[in-house]
Amino acid sequence: MVAELKTLITFFGATGDLAKRLLYPSVFNLYKKGYLQEHFAIVGTARQDITDAEYQDMVRQSVSEGQDKEQVEAFLAHFSYEASDVTDAAGYASLKEEIEKASAKFGVKGNRIFYMSVAPRFFGTIAQFLKSEGLLADEGYNRIMIEKPFGTSYKTAEELQNQLTSAFSEDQVYRIDHFLGKEMVMNIAPLRFGNPMLNSAWNKDYIKNVQVTLAETLGVEERAGYYDQAGALLDMIQNHTMQIIGWLAMEEPKDFSDVAIREAKNQAFSSLEIYDEAGVNRYFVRGQYGAGKQEGHVAYTNEPDVPKDSKTNTYIAGELHFNTPRWEGVPFYIRSGKRMTKKTTRIDVVFKAGAFKFGGQQEPQETVLTIVVSPDEKITMSLNAKEVADNFSTQTVNLGWAPTAEQKAETPAPYERMIHDCLDGNASNFADWHGVATAWKFTDALSDVYAADKAPLEIYESDTMGPEAADKLLAQNGDAWVYRGE
Ligand code: NAD
Repeated sequence: MVAELKTLITFFGATGDLAKRLLYPSVFNLYKKGYLQEHFAIVGTARQDITDAEYQDMVRQSVSEGQDKEQVEAFLAHFSYEASDVTDAAGYASLKEEIEKASAKFGVKGNRIFYMSVAPRFFGTIAQFLKSEGLLADEGYNRIMIEKPFGTSYKTAEELQNQLTSAFSEDQVYRIDHFLGKEMVMNIAPLRFGNPMLNSAWNKDYIKNVQVTLAETLGVEERAGYYDQAGALLDMIQNHTMQIIGWLAMEEPKDFSDVAIREAKNQAFSSLEIYDEAGVNRYFVRGQYGAGKQEGHVAYTNEPDVPKDSKTNTYIAGELHFNTPRWEGVPFYIRSGKRMTKKTTRIDVVFKAGAFKFGGQQEPQETVLTIVVSPDEKITMSLNAKEVADNFSTQTVNLGWAPTAEQKAETPAPYERMIHDCLDGNASNFADWHGVATAWKFTDALSDVYAADKAPLEIYESDTMGPEAADKLLAQNGDAWVYRGE
């Protein structure tokens, strides 16, 4: 049996889509696994005026499919609800009362998590009211889980950060980026630091370049209102891509604690080169999907609710530089786009080719460590080996591992993992303010150039791997994308 984690979680936005679809099932899984037993309470709050029973009924609908009825009912007994408008200080008094009542009823003794499942404009306001209205516990811990996005620019992120830090210290803030809760992203650390062979080669002497691809096949769908403001740059690059890069580029942490991990990532982020206008044009490509051959795949500007003259990037490719001795001269290539050939998130670490010649025309090949994050999950390493033939020639062979279907079924979903880690006080897989701030400074430099329309907009055919300019970007360094949509 696992050790019980005593806690009281307050869900702001308790009646919303995220809570119903992902948060309650995650908490129920933690209950079934025994992390939550007797000493836990869940208080939901949102604007709707509903009773405890109606709230429990809503949660029942989220969690009960195919589950043991008795267990579901025992779980639901820990749930209560208090309506409040988060922008109004007055509502916090009754919420405080409810939290204290539930805490006493289930013997939680402090240990409060406040989960912000509300619109981002409320994150800072709620944090400040939690402190000013006395909702923070005097004993145990207080932690705040923040949904994304964390700001819309460096300036707005800094404002939010200032609001948060007036009530919480950095070690109490758990900024969610669900990519950090993905199994294969969490595999970067054991691969790097658990294998001295890879760890000692994780630098400019052996690595030629690093590639991170987040490709989507979908177009903008019904999200034009949001997406036309954000583009691929804010939707996928500023957050998920940069957080993955953090694990790849970080220095070696002195131990595997969350503090040391975040410190090692911050060392890397501090050395990230922020580009000026010339740099943005030299090292980045912005693209937008045009029509494709598949039925219904219209150009981005012909999508419903998208302005006909929109210059929003639906594709970004670029090259990052970390100015540290470890990474001198090693490009980190990133790309993300909509309407690409295949949906995939993957990392390709390209190692330099050896100099040894086997004779004839044979060129030594680069070897590649590939981590496929989703939707498949897979780790492969290509190696040079002998071809099965009479004469002596070499070929590239792949060593590979993928989790079994059973293992995948057992893998906790990112939200379950993140709530568990927050209960456990482990912030390794959450975004640190310094990394978020650096990512904003980096993407702001691009946003400024794009807003002023001082970079070409490359139109690419839908259902391809993006504009040719992205291939040229790598070719000018003698590199090529490993993944070409096969
Ligand atoms: P939603 O619109 O479905 O729910 C919002 C919730 O906030 C509702 O419970 C609503 O009653 C409550 N609310 C609104 N105004 C309020 C006020 N003034 N006072 C008190 N409560 C108020 O939103 P959602 O999709 O559940 O998203 C919640 C957060 O999660 C957002 O920050 C979003 O960016 C993030 N997020 C959502 C998803 C998702 O799949 N839904 C995925 C990733 C991140």
